Amino acid sequence: RAKQSRHTRIALYSEELIDNIAAFVSTENRIRRGLKENEFIAHYQPQVDMHSGRIVGAEALARWQSHDRGLISPAEFIPVAEETGLIDQLGRSILSQACSQILEWQRAGIRLPLSVNISGRQFAVPGFVDQIQGIIGESGINPAQLELEITEQVFLEDMDEATDKLWQLRDLGVSIAIDDFGIGYSSLSYLKRLPFNTLKIDRTFTRDICEDARDVAILRAILSLSRDLRLNTIIEGVETKAQKKLLLRLGCERAQGFLFHQPLPAAELTSLLLKR
Ligand code: C2E
Ligand code: MG
Ligand code: MG
Ligand code: MG
Repeated sequence: RAKQSRHTRIALYSEELIDNIAAFVSTENRIRRGLKENEFIAHYQPQVDMHSGRIVGAEALARWQSHDRGLISPAEFIPVAEETGLIDQLGRSILSQACSQILEWQRAGIRLPLSVNISGRQFAVPGFVDQIQGIIGESGINPAQLELEITEQVFLEDMDEATDKLWQLRDLGVSIAIDDFGIGYSSLSYLKRLPFNTLKIDRTFTRDICEDARDVAILRAILSLSRDLRLNTIIEGVETKAQKKLLLRLGCERAQGFLFHQPLPAAELTSLLLKR
């Protein structure tokens, strides 16, 4: 009897596995179709100076405007896009949308720097730097208007190659931000070796600062590190006035969070910028 129940369990597991694989393949196919039909669009979340409330930049965030399922968030498609390598094409599309947006705003007399996320998989593609150079060159924007956000993921595999690529990107004139800072597993020594301009503190550090003194201690240390390394600092995930107040007291100025703005469709951000 024991044997039989084990078989049943195995059968159940494999059924589940098949279901998972089927779901994965179907998502992959839908992403492929979505890419062909330009359903992936950039929304933009403003970054603000918390003292003045002024918008000082924005981050491009991919959204999937699916013809049959509405607006789909990155949590549902980025992992599959990473796994299948489709993130490369997706990332290029978001980058060129961001470049066009910079130009469009420029024509309207608005100057707003944009950040674009680069996945580890996209970064690792041979010819990645040429690809970025091509997109920027074609668009005709001033590269100083653009910041690329990378995570520790990109230099865990081959530190030397990643260092080379990052310096080549800097030579193109773009800035580099380290995203989700503080939640990775690598040592801090990379901060010394790699040419970052900006450090984005992950939102897990913001979440509990009003309740947990240990989070305040960690945040204080990160802020002081970032300042001493002469990096720009952005704090992610500010949701409440109390958090804002505390962060300002800690000397944090630049923030991104739902308290200020959600990620917005380009047109909505444009009218916001024109009003100011
Ligand atoms: P990320 O780069 O760290 O982007 C910030 C995420 O935090 C965004 O989620 C944003 O909507 C969310 N966020 C901002 N303020 C708050 C807040 O106050 N509270 C909370 N709870 N969340 C806040 P989103 O748009 O869902 O994107 C999730 C992740 O997906 C991004 O994290 C990024 O890693 C990835 N992603 C999004 N677009 C792209 C893309 O074009 N390329 C690549 N490679 N990755 C992307
Ligand atoms: Mg980011
Ligand atoms: Mg982040
Ligand atoms: Mg993230």
